Amino acid sequence: MIQIEDLHKSYHMGNNSLHVLKGINFNVKEGELVSIMGSSGSGKSTLLNILGMLDEADQGSYTLDGVAIKNLNEKIAAGYRNKFLGFVFQSFNLINYKSALDNVAMPLYYQGSKRKERSQKAMHYLEKVGLAEWSHHLPNELSGGQKQRVAIARAMASEPKVLLADEPTGALDTTTSYEVMELIQQINDEGKTILIVTHEDDIAHMTKRIVNLKDGVIIDDKLVNQVKANANV
Ligand code: ADP
Ligand code: MG
Repeated sequence: MIQIEDLHKSYHMGNNSLHVLKGINFNVKEGELVSIMGSSGSGKSTLLNILGMLDEADQGSYTLDGVAIKNLNEKIAAGYRNKFLGFVFQSFNLINYKSALDNVAMPLYYQGSKRKERSQKAMHYLEKVGLAEWSHHLPNELSGGQKQRVAIARAMASEPKVLLADEPTGALDTTTSYEVMELIQQINDEGKTILIVTHEDDIAHMTKRIVNLKDGVIIDDKLVNQVKANANV
C-alpha cells in the first residue's frame, strides 16, 4: 500500500537548515496497523505529513497504492488525497458550528455526493463509532473522546485506503486514550490500513507494528507481541 525509499526532508529558516528525515525506508502492506514512535522533534509529524501528501520530500520516492507521488500538480494531489487518505489529528479539528453529523458528512460534500447519501453515510459511520444518539450535538457538547470518535467517523466517511492519525490520543486521558485505540483496532480488524504517530509506548503497543524514529532514521521496526502481558498462557 505504501512504499517509501530513501526519503529526505530538511526545513530551511534563513541561513539555517534542519535535516529532519535522513533516508527513511519502509513499506506498509494493506491491512497493517502501524505506529511511528519517537521522541518529540524526531520527525514523526514530518513523515506523516509527507505520507499524507500534505508536504513533499526533498529526495526519495513514495508510492501510494501503486501511484508515484512526486511533482503532482495541486489539483491532482488533492484528488489523490481525498480518494486515498483519511486524517485524524490530536486536536480533532472539528468545525465548531456544525453538528457531529454535518462534520462527518463534510468530506462527502467535497466528493460530490448528494445530500441524502451524505447524511445516510455520515449516520452509518457515526453508528460505527457509537455516537448515533449524538448526531445533532455540536462538538462543544461532546467529551474529548467523543470528539475524537466524530473525527474518526469523518475520516472513515470518504472510505479512504489508508487512515493516518497524528497523536490521536494526545489530548485525551489514559482511559479515553485506550477506548479510542480500541476503536482504531476495531476499524483495523475490519481491514483498514492505519498508521498512527505517537510518543507513548503503551499506545504504540496497541498497534501491530512499531517503527521507531530517531535522529532522522528508523532505528527499529518490529512486530508487537500479540500475547498480552496479563494473559494466563
Ligand atoms: P515530531 O512530530 O516527532 O515531534 P516534527 O516532525 O514535528 O517532530 O518536527 C521535527 C523537527 O522539525 C523539529 O525540530 C521541528 O521543530 C522542526 N520543524 C517541523 N516543522 C517545521 C517547519 N514547518 N519549519 C521549520 N522547522 C520545522
Ligand atoms: Mg508531531
